Amino acid sequence: MPEIITLLPDHVANQIAAGEVIQRPSSIVKELMENAIDAGATSIDLIIKDAGKTLVQVIDNGNGISHDELSLAFQRHATSKIKSAEDLFRLKTKGFRGEALASISAISHVQTVSRTVKDSTAKSIKIAGNKVESEEFKVAPLGTSFSVKNLFYNIPARRNFLKSDSVELRHIIEEFNRLAIAHPDLNFSFVSNAKEIFDLKKTNLRKRISTTFGIKVSNSLVPVQEDTPVAKISGFVINPSGSRKSRGQQFFFVNNRFIKSPFLNHSVNSAFEGLISFGYHPGYFIFLDVDPDKIDVNIHPTKTEIKFEDEQSIYAILRSTIKHSLGIFQVLPTLDFDRDSSMDTPYSYKEKKPSSPPLVSIDSSFNPFKESSGIYSLESNQKINQIEFESESIQNVIHDLNADLSPKQIKVFQLFNKYLITALSSGLMIINQNRAHQRVLYEQLLSTLSLQKTPSQNLLFPFKTSISPTELIYLKDNKTELEALGFEFHLDGSEVINFTAIPVLFKEKQLDQLFDKLFSSEIEFNGFSKGDAISKQLCKAMAIPNGKILNIEEQQELLASLFTCKEKTLSPFNRPILVNLDAIEIDKKIN
Ligand code: ADP
Ligand code: MG
Repeated sequence: MPEIITLLPDHVANQIAAGEVIQRPSSIVKELMENAIDAGATSIDLIIKDAGKTLVQVIDNGNGISHDELSLAFQRHATSKIKSAEDLFRLKTKGFRGEALASISAISHVQTVSRTVKDSTAKSIKIAGNKVESEEFKVAPLGTSFSVKNLFYNIPARRNFLKSDSVELRHIIEEFNRLAIAHPDLNFSFVSNAKEIFDLKKTNLRKRISTTFGIKVSNSLVPVQEDTPVAKISGFVINPSGSRKSRGQQFFFVNNRFIKSPFLNHSVNSAFEGLISFGYHPGYFIFLDVDPDKIDVNIHPTKTEIKFEDEQSIYAILRSTIKHSLGIFQVLPTLDFDRDSSMDTPYSYKEKKPSSPPLVSIDSSFNPFKESSGIYSLESNQKINQIEFESESIQNVIHDLNADLSPKQIKVFQLFNKYLITALSSGLMIINQNRAHQRVLYEQLLSTLSLQKTPSQNLLFPFKTSISPTELIYLKDNKTELEALGFEFHLDGSEVINFTAIPVLFKEKQLDQLFDKLFSSEIEFNGFSKGDAISKQLCKAMAIPNGKILNIEEQQELLASLFTCKEKTLSPFNRPILVNLDAIEIDKKIN
């Protein structure tokens, strides 16, 4: 290949750079809304069509852009927010790289109308693929309106990578919520496909959380407050009883910028240690105010990660502040900061009454050196929860994968709280309890879907639950499919929803957990029907988790149900359910 080095033309360089900043419609929402906030707007309106694939429009009442700077704003590295590299450590704005508008206009059709207070008319500019197509003067209110149409029109491969509208809409709502919570003192509205989703008036943080996440969340908020030279901490945590299986309610803001930080999240988790049961996550809306020269925001293309100069201290302060708040609000029984948390009783054991010792029946006639008895070879340090061997000959243990077996005939024990071990005539079978249960539920739901009349149970008293505007969208979008699966509910646009019937497969007391998980997962159709996709989500939400101790009847019941499934070896998400160790392999290993 001849070595000819050329500089890429600007529009190609911009398209490449756009890939980092603009991944999907929600990235445009983030960049445009952040610009509006930086411009000092007090009201910001977001309008989208087809989950932003057709249109993202952001209208603000901020400072505007003057006539002669309007086209300059679309050049790469054009920014009014910093002048030198040192300014990076004095940042008060969300933007500073001057690349969002250049990136957006490289991959879409943009129209901007803007007016500053010193101009009597507004200027409008149309740009596509970084080329100015037209400029004109107009009458328009003070502030700026950006319309971004036909995202990725010139990069079909990127357009094809976009997910379904409901997934993309979820990402947009996520970005919108982050900014709305970071700035409760601003008015925000959000209209999707001509329907209003949010109309948020300027308020305080608690009320903003309530209007975006629903009354249930706002009723369980515990305030957190601390002022130290390293950081000022404010905001709320959700008390332990409101913690969820999903991580959808975890928000850190550093100098009002939403960030993701596994490190700080760990600190919050450690403050909640012993208060939350296995598999649940604490919820929080925490604001950290840190001197801008003690952080580096410029370490990630989307600016959602931050490097702290004094990470260790922030970790420790955050942890003790949250513990303190949980103590004051009497969530913790006693306040003892020197307590060694490793001595805490795990949450799941707290309410447990002492039970009689586990029943292990021992076969006194068992002879390990007898030839037929070499089926179970278990290392002594393995945790076995239930071992129930009958004293009869070991051969009676053995059965085949057979749909006609009654649960009681199945000999099984649980290992590591997640595997069920059973012996077949051909060898040993190890079954993952979570995936097995997913498969069982999935086949039952699919048969429900194919029936004309759905087996659902009417509830004696309607199950009432409060939902957020986002959750309402989910229920509206998927009403037909949820009804086909046996749910009955009424939507009247209010915050409380009544379920009058649910599928027979589920218990009423599981509903809170079910919706928590359902609302926070993404539906991907992958060529299957929407009903199929929702069934898979339901199975994932409701299946027995790994880590749960099952009694012998539950183990037998689960295996008997798995054996009746059409597909016994793969979960609904195509993951293996079981492995077989056949007799020949076992013999080989032992010899
Ligand atoms: P950055 O935000 O990093 O400066 P952008 O490409 O997002 O870069 O914007 C470039 C410039 O355009 C900004 O620095 C700002 O001066 C101007 N600008 C963008 N959006 C707005 C807006 N909504 N109101 C006023 N000025 C804006
Ligand atoms: Mg910007």
